[in-house]
Amino acid sequence: MEVDVAIIGAGPAGSTLAALLAGRGFSVAVVDRDTFPRDKLCGEFLSWDALPIADALGVTAAIDEAGAPRIANCRIVGNRRDYEFALPHEARGVSRLLFDELLLRTAVTRGATALDGWTATALGETITLTRGGETRSIRARVTVGAWGRWGRFDQQLGRAFVRDRAHRSFGFKRHYTGDPPRDAIELFSFRNGYLGVNEIEGGRTNICGLVAADRLTGHKGRWDAFVDELRDDEPVLDAMYARYAPAQESFLSSEPVIFRARSPVEGGVFMIGDASGIVDPLTGNGMAMALQSALLVAPRIAALLNGRERIEVENEYRRAHHEFFAPRIAWSRRVARLLSRPRLLDAALSTRAKLGPFFVRHTRDDRDVVARMTGAWFSIQ
Ligand SMILES: Cc1cc2nc3c(=O)[nH]c(=O)nc-3n(C[C@H](O)[C@H](O)[C@H](O)COP(=O)(O)OP(=O)(O)OC[C@H]3O[C@@H](n4cnc5c(N)ncnc54)[C@H](O)[C@@H]3O)c2cc1C
Repeated sequence: MEVDVAIIGAGPAGSTLAALLAGRGFSVAVVDRDTFPRDKLCGEFLSWDALPIADALGVTAAIDEAGAPRIANCRIVGNRRDYEFALPHEARGVSRLLFDELLLRTAVTRGATALDGWTATALGETITLTRGGETRSIRARVTVGAWGRWGRFDQQLGRAFVRDRAHRSFGFKRHYTGDPPRDAIELFSFRNGYLGVNEIEGGRTNICGLVAADRLTGHKGRWDAFVDELRDDEPVLDAMYARYAPAQESFLSSEPVIFRARSPVEGGVFMIGDASGIVDPLTGNGMAMALQSALLVAPRIAALLNGRERIEVENEYRRAHHEFFAPRIAWSRRVARLLSRPRLLDAALSTRAKLGPFFVRHTRDDRDVVARMTGAWFSIQ
């Protein structure tokens, strides 16, 4: 198979880029080892600064139709006090089962070829894909890494963060039935971690947490035992979990989350989404960043395919990526450190009433800026 662009990974970043470039007439293949629709570890809080792009692709209308709830407030539940504030714009609660499927189908409708169920196993002049005993290859003028926060190619490309064993965290999530926090996302703090609770479509509630690896010693991936321990330690969490009954058979977890800087271009591969940098999950901005990084790289890849010098394009994308994302990544770590220390959080909440809106503002992009960038891309179609 020969294409202009091969994208490895059909999460929000890869499928968005596929939709953008295929809509411009480029030939695009988007590959994913999973067969869609598929579930994914995530808080499933879709930030408002993702919506201009999702709107333009028709995906917001589809999630609204599916009943994705609107989230207008954030409630931080401390040990001694709660603190609630209005979000500057409404977010949505939407499952990854639905959102990722919609984005991939949108890419296909706009002309991309979806190769879900195929794992990319070798990168080079041609990309090798395997499925069961079958093999096929793709020759692409541009290769894009959208494989998420951790993949086999990070090792092959010698990316430094892979060797970092000191800053690892793990996420866990499960859907529940019960009384969802209507209209709000709730954030809970515990030692070395935190939890987010919000409603998604179908009246379900997603409870998703992140915990530092050293707090998991002895649990060996048994998330039910870990959650029992949390409930024993933290009465606030026990009361929260008591409001719900599991709606999924088990917890979902996945690769480690490593908070180390990574480069947006590596060995000629353009990285987007988590593969290009990780904003702390606490912010609920990872999917927005995935969509925005696709929007940021799309005009650069279009220019490259239209004959612009590769080195210029790579350097420009590196610069733009740094300007756009580095400040919010740095702020996200500061906020996460506070939320993983219940006592400090209680003290901060009692003294600094404007803390929440301040952090929210600094950990995402301005929705209007994203709307202008989206308008600029779609005005050329
Ligand atoms: C605990 C936790 C909670 C979070 N909560 C939120 C939240 O509430 N809101 C939010 O916006 N973000 C949240 N995030 C972040 C969000 O999940 C990510 O930022 C987002 O999924 C990144 O999208 P992506 O497209 O870059 O990667 P992914 O969604 O990870 O997609 C990568 C895809 O690549 C595929 N892939 C990998 N390797 C290969 C290969 N070799 N061949 C083929 N396919 C491959 C995978 O199967 C996967 O489908 C959370 C993250 C964590 C860890």
